[in-house]
Amino acid sequence: MSYQKVSNHRQCRAAGSLLGQLYAQTMVQSKACDQFGQLIGLETQYKIGLKRQVNGLSVSNSHTEVDHDIAVWSNKGILAMANEYRVGLGYDIHRLVEGRKLIVGGITIEHDKGLLGHSDADVALHAVTDALLGAAGLPDIGDLFPDTDPAYENADSGKLLTSALAMIAERGLRPNNVDIIIHAEAPKLSPYKKQMAANIARLLEQPEDYVNVKAKTNEGLGPLGHSDAIACSAVATLVSADA
Ligand code: MG
Repeated sequence: MSYQKVSNHRQCRAAGSLLGQLYAQTMVQSKACDQFGQLIGLETQYKIGLKRQVNGLSVSNSHTEVDHDIAVWSNKGILAMANEYRVGLGYDIHRLVEGRKLIVGGITIEHDKGLLGHSDADVALHAVTDALLGAAGLPDIGDLFPDTDPAYENADSGKLLTSALAMIAERGLRPNNVDIIIHAEAPKLSPYKKQMAANIARLLEQPEDYVNVKAKTNEGLGPLGHSDAIACSAVATLVSADA
């Protein structure tokens, strides 16, 4: 058996592809593992996994995507692609109505209206949660915490985010940074930006400067501009839990 040392991502993927072929041919995990170790050399600093696909197997570009029951790890390696980032995008919008508390980014804000929703309707935490779930390749917040489920009635969105983080952690990932834009004509949210960022950073267990919150009006245009709703866009990155 010849050795193939890998020293960069491209070579890593190529070696992994070979393993995929081996696995597909043998369908015996332990044997494939063994052959894989010999092929790439166990001293490689990369860790490669396989994930199941419709048409067989392919190499994951991050160990975090690995289906663990068929994962193959180098017993001497550090994990793969430690410098790799996964990016997710989230967006949410809720109507502003009377008789509801206004909670944005986990912060209660004095206002004569609040956001309408099955949970506490925290538009910012919903967008952040969806961005994180998207980066992990997980189902979205509506699929995981449906608004038809009484369990989530008036739910604290911080708890939904924490549940999502647990699922993300199961995939071997953790949050890195988050960038958020809240679109609201009224009330003015700028005075709350720092508090929101601190609260979201706390939920993510990240330093405060890894969470950025921006607040923008909609220049008086459309439902956002007429203060009928508040929307939020969020981008999040995840890294390997080992990074
Ligand atoms: Mg929502």
